[in-house]
Order: sequence, then C-alpha cells, then structure tokens
Amino acid sequence: MGLGGVGGFDYLCKMSGLYIHIPLCASKCNYCNFYSVGRNSNGDRKDLSAHLVAALKGEMDERRGRSADSSDFLANAPLTSIYIGGGTPTLLEPAGLKDILEHAGKLWNCAGLKEITLEANPEDLTDEYVVTLAGVEAKGESVPTFNRLSIGIQSFDDGLLKLMNRRHDAKRAREAVRMTQKIGGSTGGVEHGAKRHTAGFGANISIDLIWGIPGMTMAQWERTLDEAAGLGVQHISAYHLTIEPGTVFGKWAAGDRQLRNDAIFAPIPEAETERQYELLCRKLSDAGFEHYEISNFAKPGYRAIHNSGYWSGEAYLGIGPSAHSFDGKKRREWVTADLEKYITAFGENTGSGRMGEIYDGETLTDRELRNERIMTGLRRVEGIDMGDFEKQFGKGKTDELIEKAERFVVKGLLVQEGKNKSLPTFRLPEEKFLLSDYIIGGLFE
Ligand code: SF4
Repeated sequence: MGLGGVGGFDYLCKMSGLYIHIPLCASKCNYCNFYSVGRNSNGDRKDLSAHLVAALKGEMDERRGRSADSSDFLANAPLTSIYIGGGTPTLLEPAGLKDILEHAGKLWNCAGLKEITLEANPEDLTDEYVVTLAGVEAKGESVPTFNRLSIGIQSFDDGLLKLMNRRHDAKRAREAVRMTQKIGGSTGGVEHGAKRHTAGFGANISIDLIWGIPGMTMAQWERTLDEAAGLGVQHISAYHLTIEPGTVFGKWAAGDRQLRNDAIFAPIPEAETERQYELLCRKLSDAGFEHYEISNFAKPGYRAIHNSGYWSGEAYLGIGPSAHSFDGKKRREWVTADLEKYITAFGENTGSGRMGEIYDGETLTDRELRNERIMTGLRRVEGIDMGDFEKQFGKGKTDELIEKAERFVVKGLLVQEGKNKSLPTFRLPEEKFLLSDYIIGGLFE
C-alpha cells in the first residue's frame, strides 16, 4: 500500500530514524551482553567486513522493497537521523561506512537529515583513520555524512579499564577525542537538511561513561568526571553498570572473585550508588551540561536526536544482525542475532531470500504501549503530558494514571506541573531519578 496505508500523511510531522548495527568486536568487554562476533586477525576482519557491508546493503534493499506493504516501518517518511552502532563500527574501514551511508542515501529521502552518528572505540581512532574519515566526509557532496561521533570511553582510570577488558587506556581515550576535535572539527560537515551542526563530526562528540563498577572509589569516579567535563565534548552518556548473567562480570559476581584492593567483586551498596550518581549530576551540571534523560547529559542544542526518537516512540528501522525496529505504532521487529545466517540471507553472492528465518516480531498490546509510554516519558526531563496521553489512550486510562501519579506527588516522588490542572504533566525530580524503577513500576498497569 502507499502513503495512506501507513496512516495518511501523519508521517509529515514525525521523526524517523535508521539504525545500522555492526556486530563486530575485536574482543569482548567483561560487562557486555550485546550480540557481537569477535575477530582478531586483520585479514579475517577485512573479508568479514566486506561480506557484512554487502549483506547490510542487501537488507536495506529488501526492507525498502517492502515499503509497498509498509513493513519498511519508515515507508516514505524522510529520515531525521542515521545511527551506525554496534558492536564496533570503527572496525570497518571508512570506505565501508561510506558505502553504507551512500546506499541509505539512495533508498530513503535524506533531505531532512539532522543527525548522522558513528559509534567509535578510542583505539580505532588513529590519526590515519580520522583523516580518512574526514576525507570521506569532505567529498560526500551527495551522500549523508557523519556529523556526530559517539566514543565509548567508559572511564579515565586505567585499572578500571583493564578490569572491564577495554582495549584502550586513558591516554588513548584523551588522544582520540583531541585528534577528532582537531581533524574532524573543521572538515566535512553535513549539507543535508537542517544546518544545526555543519562543522563536521569533531564538533559534535558524545562520550560514554560507566559508573557503579565494583571496587570503583569516589576519587576514581571524580577524576573520570573531571576529565570528561574538561574535554570540551558536547554530550555525555553515563550508564550505571548492570551485572548481567552470562558475562564475565556475571560469573565473577557469582563466584566470590577478589579484586586487587581485596574487595569481593559484587554490586556496590545502594548508598555508594547514590553518592556516585549525585557526584555525576553535580559535576556535569557545574560544567554546563543539561540533564535531559536519566543517563544523558548535553550542552545546550546538542541533545541526541536519534535516541530522543526512541524515547518519544517515533518509528525507527534497524538494519543488521540483532537490530530492532518499531513502526511508531504497535509493531516491533528484530533481526536474528546470527551473523552467518544474516550473510547467507542477504550477502552479495549468497542472498537466499529466506527471510522467515531472519525476522521475528511482536505486536504490543494497548497495555504494553501505555506502560512503555509511561517509562520512556518519565525517564526524560519533560516527563509525561497527560493531554498527549489522553489523545492516544482515552479518558478512562488517563484518569486512572492521574490518580496513581497523585499518590507519588504527595510523597515528593513526582512533580506535577502545567497550566491545565485536569491534564497536568508529571515528571521525576532529578534527585529521584535513581528511584525511577520503583516510581515507574508503581504507575504501570
Ligand atoms: S566494544 Fe562495545 S559491543 Fe563490543 S564487547 Fe565491548 S561493550 Fe560490547
């Protein structure tokens, strides 16, 4: 079906994002449970990279071809953002990344693109790599080009980086950011759509940090935050470590593993978690970052557009093994987490067209949709607008939610605002962000 089949012209005011997953990692980090395939030798990697790029392009063709029945999920909506993540996308050569972007540019309307992010690991951002990437950018007149880099630094403490089995040390992380700012800041840039960031990817850098690491002292955390705040980056994502079963950390936590300082490897106590989170909020606020989502901080004008789309329930299409898609309404779909099967299905010389084995999905119930809206709304500083909620879910369910929320307002766990007293906005106060699971769970149906 055509445009009408995806809800008339309602896409015109909607954002839509394209996510491309590169499931390659040179080694496995001790806390990570994402799907990725390890590759150590360079030759092996190059060969695999070529097959992966061909298969990603094959899947893009397949998904775009399905727009006739709207399972492209984006249908004909112009793209607002592209995000190449992983895994480790910087294990691909810049030419491979360009190839992927070029292909996306041919298939989707990129005239309104605002943000094109590349996830990078510090050890891959060598002089040569950044120069080549910037060169690709400069020549990319008719191709969407990166205007944002998200670097997985995690910590500026060498001992903790080793504990997490990261491949870089603090020195490499510093150098990667400085070099990217120097080389990637002035060349290249985005000529597509909104001219918000036209100075190249070096002028819009995000870094990831992890806190709540067993054995991490307040002094170590403070030094990492001071370094991060002083780097001149535009965005910081700071995630609390979750110890997942099946990871190395999961095994250590289950097995009384001793740390260097004689402590036992175990989740940190709640009081320590609170102190680390308070320090994070204070340091980044003092450095001029706005805390716009539980784990995300941005300099004014630099909130992550792609991730904000996820949090506000916009449509997105995920390409690549284990990538997820959402149609902006009720339907979620994901690609099998199996690189070999993926390449067999979509690769250049192998495309088998056996899509049934590649995709899985679910249709969310109204109750699941409401709960999801509550969760993503309250994780953001804007909170959840009951007027919008009522438009989507009707008066009965909205009245129920308001009644529940008011109980949390009385206890100071939610803030109630807005001019419309009967349809207010509820949001979490920053100092209660750590209780978000408890509060959000209490509002769920
Ligand atoms: S580099 Fe990223 S995706 Fe790969 S193992 Fe480490 S945390 Fe996981």
